[in-house]
Amino acid sequence: MTSMAEEVIRTTCSYCSTGCNLEAHLQDGKLASLRPAADYPVNLGKSCPKGFHLLTPFQSPDRALTPLLRRERGGPLQPVEWDVALDAFVSRFQGILRRHGPESVAFLSSGQIPTEEMAFLGALAKFGMGLVHCDGNTRQCMATAAVAYKQAFGFDAPPLSYKDFEESDLLVFVGANPVIAHPIMWNRVKMNPHNPTIVVIDPRRTKTAEAASIHLALNPKSDLTLLYALANILIQEGWIDRGFIERSTEGFEEFRTHVSSFGLEMAAAETGLQSSAILDLARRIHESKAASFWWTMGVNQSHQAVRTAQGIINLALITGHIGRPGTGANSITGQANAMGSRMYSNTTSLMGGYDFLNESHRLHVAGILGIDPETIPRQNSWPYHRILQGVKEGVIKGLWILATNPVHSWIDKSSMPEVFGRLEFLVVQDLYASTDTAQLADLFLPGAGSGEKNGTFINSERRIGIVQKILDPPGQALPDFEIFRRIAQAWGCGPMFREWTSPEAVFQILKRLSAGQPCDITGIRDYSMLLEKGGIQWPFPAGSDPREATAARRLFTSGRFFTANGKARLHYEDIAPLPEAPDAQFPLILLTGRGSVAQWHTQTRTNRVKMLRNLYPAQAYVQVNPRDAASLGIGDGDPVKVSSRRGEIEAQATLTEEVSPGQVFMAMHYFETNLLTFPAFDPYSAEPSYKLAAVKLARK
Ligand code: SF4
Repeated sequence: MTSMAEEVIRTTCSYCSTGCNLEAHLQDGKLASLRPAADYPVNLGKSCPKGFHLLTPFQSPDRALTPLLRRERGGPLQPVEWDVALDAFVSRFQGILRRHGPESVAFLSSGQIPTEEMAFLGALAKFGMGLVHCDGNTRQCMATAAVAYKQAFGFDAPPLSYKDFEESDLLVFVGANPVIAHPIMWNRVKMNPHNPTIVVIDPRRTKTAEAASIHLALNPKSDLTLLYALANILIQEGWIDRGFIERSTEGFEEFRTHVSSFGLEMAAAETGLQSSAILDLARRIHESKAASFWWTMGVNQSHQAVRTAQGIINLALITGHIGRPGTGANSITGQANAMGSRMYSNTTSLMGGYDFLNESHRLHVAGILGIDPETIPRQNSWPYHRILQGVKEGVIKGLWILATNPVHSWIDKSSMPEVFGRLEFLVVQDLYASTDTAQLADLFLPGAGSGEKNGTFINSERRIGIVQKILDPPGQALPDFEIFRRIAQAWGCGPMFREWTSPEAVFQILKRLSAGQPCDITGIRDYSMLLEKGGIQWPFPAGSDPREATAARRLFTSGRFFTANGKARLHYEDIAPLPEAPDAQFPLILLTGRGSVAQWHTQTRTNRVKMLRNLYPAQAYVQVNPRDAASLGIGDGDPVKVSSRRGEIEAQATLTEEVSPGQVFMAMHYFETNLLTFPAFDPYSAEPSYKLAAVKLARK
């Protein structure tokens, strides 16, 4: 029984895209404990260590408490009142826009803030402030999946339900390490009662590969060759679903011709796998009653990423393993609200899944928002790397960075301080003024963490989950939503956002934008319904059976897709060469990825939690195969230099069979790692290819 003074507030974890629900127990208004919600359909009473400590970084003594302004270059950031900060924001950015036009100011945002804030930011920047170029750090993780789905299915629509983890008899993970990156999803795999075969396709012997039935340790970036070879075997053997192909796909004959040159011997030579292992996987897919295919950053962050993701999608399509329980070509998202960003951030797509270049879409969105259609740009945003290029070239002179730390996380980042130094005005909005990026700011705006505000996140299975305020933001820090409201007023476009009074009011606007779209959520009444039902997956259009709100729902059960003719499109392409192959000077391949379950991205938050810090090495380390180490005279724990054509860093050697000879691995969380990476980008998604660079190693 709860006492009068006890209060329970539920919220959704703001680290990864799993979307676990947590219960904060408050006693006399003070936080007493934070526990995973036992009845939430995502995490079923479980949490990873980051979730248990979700609120700790928000209580860190080094939170930014006031806005900070640098009055002259080289001078210190000094505390100012909000009215001074807003005046600087408006006068500096408006001055740049007046002198240099709408392309001269841009923003870079995050997949870590609630959907309502993303929508407000995107609408404010593009419709209110008149900016053109805006992007998010979701470009670094999920742009590939979004483009792959859009081209193949006609809409950015991950088809999965987490229930599929439990219903497959064959799960194939490509470039995915859920034991470390998505541990609660892995927990769902462990709940599978069908004794499934789990196949991991990954150059590294990751923790997931160790736990799998079969690990295919292929050569780095030979995954597309493997996928085409598998398709070829399935087609040659007749192990395909002809009825589904005819009813529900287009481009099959051309695809068959394309993959016919991917013979078993050639694939074995390219991938380094045994022919028998490739054949065995094809046979298992054929014999499976419910095969599911899952991918994450090993696919998304590569130079031919979209076509690789579509290589996975094609396997599901030609075998008919989609639209049924336990099947699907399923992208596992990275950040907590990357899915919200994909639908509503108004960066790559016009908010609601619309197109900036489509006149009727622009009119439709303008009508719903009650704004002049002329305020909606008629051109697409530049993607992240092009925005940075614009800064380098002097086209972009003002930049607003929110809840992300590109000076740490961007690929081949060594020039970032110099690039940002070219800006006339850099605004950073974050929790801490000490991040690598915030330290370069001319103006710093103190935002609130997810435990200090309201809104919603959309997780990997399209579930909209509630985010609720548990703590007050410290000092003068404000929820980003409130910062956007104040900026709108100060900018002079406040009347445009008359209806945008609270996150829940914006949720009602987002519902209207979704009407008739594949992501239609007009049947979700309000936040209280989300709380009541344990989150709700999109779509949930008006008139939906309320019982469906709590059902595990997947897409494409009818075999119809979101393309004009209802058929999924098979995409394929010739294999592109490695952007930077190892050679005599830099003979090793550097792989990067998540290091441990206790670390998150640039460690801005996890490094502020002692219990999490205890779970991972404080210093950068490099995993080396013992045979390579022996030939280089390197012992376990030795300090080493790792060099690429971009830079040289120091790290501690960790000798392990997790990496094959010729490869080394560094975790993405350490500042050093992206001083080495090679700046290649997928041609369709513009996502950085973090996963492969040529390096050399030497004992220090
Ligand atoms: S698995 Fe992801 S969403 Fe769940 S508690 Fe951990 S970090 Fe949060």
